[in-house]
Amino acid sequence: MNAEWNIRTCADCCAACQTKYADGETLMSRLRFTPEGYLRDDFCADCWPERSPGTETETSAWATVWHAPIPKAEEPLKKETAESLLRELMETEDPSKRNVVFILAVMLERRRILAEKEVHLQPDGIKIRVYEHKKTGESFVVPDPQLRLAEIESVQREVMDLLGIPLPQGKSAPNRPPAASTDPETTEKESAPTI
Ligand SMILES: [Zn+2]
Repeated sequence: MNAEWNIRTCADCCAACQTKYADGETLMSRLRFTPEGYLRDDFCADCWPERSPGTETETSAWATVWHAPIPKAEEPLKKETAESLLRELMETEDPSKRNVVFILAVMLERRRILAEKEVHLQPDGIKIRVYEHKKTGESFVVPDPQLRLAEIESVQREVMDLLGIPLPQGKSAPNRPPAASTDPETTEKESAPTI
């Protein structure tokens, strides 16, 4: 099986002219969905309009600001975070972790570490979400498992467990009944006669 998800780093030079990007330079990135997998190319502003063919598979394109890599020494103390966990799991390519990978990506999007760039529907019906890491410019390609509300809670619990966050004791997961049966507005709408 091909890698279901992957991280594509931002190249440090233009795919066409090979010129190294300067810190703060705006470049253009594109992602292509090909039979071999997802391919990412980055171009400088001059080469972007002249880029080589591939437009028939080019489904996603966006501008990125190039940031020189942060020296390793500046990294905080090694501690499992949602981001480090997401990176580890995406490397393992373990299909049983697909729900966890998706929830972690959503968490990082809410924290504004990742930004959603594209939603791509594959011919097989699988929805692919492409996130860009706001600091590093990497693309995170994550299939959306289309979780239902009940599934989300158990996956969130698994994520907390993996992150070493203690689960609240005593009141385990408040069992909220489905919104439709308690929300009077929804119920009213649903029972309203259709003409
Ligand atoms: Zn160039």
